[in-house]
Amino acid sequence: MSKTTTTTRLADHSPPLSIPWMRIAGGLLLVIAIVALFKGDAIQLAWSQRQVGPFKAAGNPLDAKRTFEYLQAICDIGPRVAGTPGMAKQQELITKHFEKLGAKVSLQEFTGRHPQTGMMVKMANQIVEWHPEKKERILLCCHHDTRPFPDREPNPNKRKDPFIGANDGGSGVAMLMELGNHMAGLRCKYGVDFVFFDGEELVYDDARSDPYFLGSEYFARTYVSQPPGHKYKWGVLFDMIGDKQLNMYREVNSMEWPDTRPLVLDIWKTAGSLGVKEFVNVTRHEIRDDHLALRNIGKIPTCDLIDFEYPTSHGPNYWHTTQDIPANCSGDSMAKVGYVMYTWLQQVK
Ligand SMILES: [Zn+2]
Repeated sequence: MSKTTTTTRLADHSPPLSIPWMRIAGGLLLVIAIVALFKGDAIQLAWSQRQVGPFKAAGNPLDAKRTFEYLQAICDIGPRVAGTPGMAKQQELITKHFEKLGAKVSLQEFTGRHPQTGMMVKMANQIVEWHPEKKERILLCCHHDTRPFPDREPNPNKRKDPFIGANDGGSGVAMLMELGNHMAGLRCKYGVDFVFFDGEELVYDDARSDPYFLGSEYFARTYVSQPPGHKYKWGVLFDMIGDKQLNMYREVNSMEWPDTRPLVLDIWKTAGSLGVKEFVNVTRHEIRDDHLALRNIGKIPTCDLIDFEYPTSHGPNYWHTTQDIPANCSGDSMAKVGYVMYTWLQQVK
């Protein structure tokens, strides 16, 4: 994903204690007050409150440890820049994985111009179809290429080092690989496609306006110019969902477009019903990402699920740096996002 303006908007109907630190502060005050009143009982109460999270998460069929292993395997390949051997290796890994699980996997090939050399680069979106006979479908997608260099690295001497893209590039793939283990038996009204977009950030030089979103634009244009036999009811894009300190704010475009707003509200409602507190009822950050092409060109109502604050809104920022590595990601975070999607797919109208 690319440039962003950091807009923060509290949701119209957000409860007053919707910002995490306010909730924490509120919780602390409550505990202190109870301690003052009933010293012994308070310890019991605080303990039982802490059990609520893990207890609810126990219903998650997605395996956090395995999800992290997928992420590690992807990152062990090294950089997966569009048109490079690393990308070819990842393509192979993805195809093998999903074919073994019984999905239909295909490549949507296209070319784009290399922003530095001017040569044509061969790229491919990877399409994984579950229940391909269904004519009404849901699109779950992410980009699987990585940025050529960690150009936001604080140390200028490291800005040409390899960029691993664990969170930005790897996390969506790992989550969908794990979700794939649960797709064959899933009861969903719609067919589901997982699509991995190539050429999301073939960006060597941001100042030169190197292109973003080549894969999603090609996918969206083809969907319109050569309509397939199916129609997408909804699209959900995943980007940077692996952060150890996960905070899923609602993305500004996704909330403002009238056709995607109900989708966002539905997904956050699902998260709320599961007790996945990392989905915060606050709208924050306007992100330019693959969902723009899907929605504006393809007319597929698509929202962006992204935790742009990596790891937090203050202190160091790992986005597009050498610190975007598995050690700064968590299987638990990706599995929680997958759990919300797994549940949402079974309920979606
Ligand atoms: Zn990026």
